[in-house]
Amino acid sequence: MNEPDDDLQARLRAIPPVNQWLERPEIGEISRTLGSETTLGILRATLKELRIRIRSREHVDIESFVTNAMGEAVAANERMGLRKVINATGILLHTGLGRAPLSQDAVEAIQRTAMGYCNLEFDLETGQRGRRVDAVRELLTKITGAEAATVVNNNAAATILALRAIANRREVIVSRGQLVEIGGGFRLPEIMAVSGAVLREVGTTNRTRIRDFEAAIGPDTAAILRVHTSNYAIVGFTREPEPAELARLSHDRGLVFIDDVGSGVLSKADLPEGLTDPAVTDSITLGADLVLFSGDKLLGGPQCGIIAGSKACVSRVESDPLMRAFRVDKLTLAALAATLKSWSDRGLRNHRIPFWRMLTESIESLAWHAERLAETLARQGWSVQVRSSEAFAGGGSLPAETIESRVVVVGAPWPEGIASESDLAEKLRRQVPAIVGRVHTEGFWIDLRTLSPEDRLTSPMILGRLIRKP
Ligand SMILES: *Cc1c(COP(=O)(O)O)cnc(C)c1O
Repeated sequence: MNEPDDDLQARLRAIPPVNQWLERPEIGEISRTLGSETTLGILRATLKELRIRIRSREHVDIESFVTNAMGEAVAANERMGLRKVINATGILLHTGLGRAPLSQDAVEAIQRTAMGYCNLEFDLETGQRGRRVDAVRELLTKITGAEAATVVNNNAAATILALRAIANRREVIVSRGQLVEIGGGFRLPEIMAVSGAVLREVGTTNRTRIRDFEAAIGPDTAAILRVHTSNYAIVGFTREPEPAELARLSHDRGLVFIDDVGSGVLSKADLPEGLTDPAVTDSITLGADLVLFSGDKLLGGPQCGIIAGSKACVSRVESDPLMRAFRVDKLTLAALAATLKSWSDRGLRNHRIPFWRMLTESIESLAWHAERLAETLARQGWSVQVRSSEAFAGGGSLPAETIESRVVVVGAPWPEGIASESDLAEKLRRQVPAIVGRVHTEGFWIDLRTLSPEDRLTSPMILGRLIRKP
């Protein structure tokens, strides 16, 4: 045996055996996170790799090789699944970032329900089998003013189910100005095709009259559908019949009037001045037989689709076999009930439901918080400036309307290690939690309107990590 080989054997013998690694506190810590079997597996694979490297005469430091490999395994584990994001975009219902954040009450309700059993389909009065939607039915009829209501997985499911239950293989009349694409694959003509209803388009893109609807009614017609053009606006030479006219016509001719209001603000009076959206209660009052809306848009609750309307129509929807496929789980019901309870009182709602707290926060308060954030960031060495900006409801709600806001613009001159606003944006996306903001030519924008009180404390700490200490 020659000398280099002796040296090689010595280096291999210097690797501590598996059981010695396992006794180390830092490996014990990893074992509590990943589990002892998984940790042992990763450790063995790491040591095997280490031996291969040493045999091929690579100069590796045993300690740092193992520490890095174990650290990477923990980091990879953290990257899996959903990760927390601080939404600095100013888009309140950001579809990419999960739409409406839930209230503390909703989260507690989920936790209570998730960790044990509940009366999901069990009537505690009679001891008989109950129905799962019963947990929220009364809350829903109370706040919508409808005779009956039910809930499914999302508003797309609500639309498919309503059309199928009311108009399977029959015609549904829709204005050409309302054949919307909402995004994420919701295109009205395709949704209708899936439901089995036959689309009968009337009018033109910009102008449709009540007599266009009248002329299209035939023996095969089952319903008239109005769809709120929630993510765009047609302006200029335009016309659409009022929903009340459509309801009247439907009832005169024995048809069902379905109103997909989309965003689900309950009453116009709920919205801050300057914002408008079709309100659920108005639609019920003017005579819609079925009103459809999302739970995680302006309602500020969990993802779901709410169907409110007449007893007869809601019960047709509920007896459709697809109801079973679109049903909501117990956690959604728990969160929805908690959210609806806060709706009964304006003060409670604007205080407890994050979307409404963000929407109604005063500009004075946003300006104050923007100045505080700017001061902190300037002290860390960033070049910052506070500007007024426009926030958006998002999620396909209130498309043409903006909400006054304030941003902290982080811009040039950049600190060492940051090349540009897009470089900063990329680095912030990689942090835990990540920060997602708006990239403009003159800097990276952090909009205060979508930062929760907690985010306002955390975000400067995250930006601080990117500053190189001299
Ligand atoms: C958002 C929206 C939908 C889809 O609702 P989801 O809850 O996302 O499935 C359908 N119709 C209208 C008018 C909408 O605005």
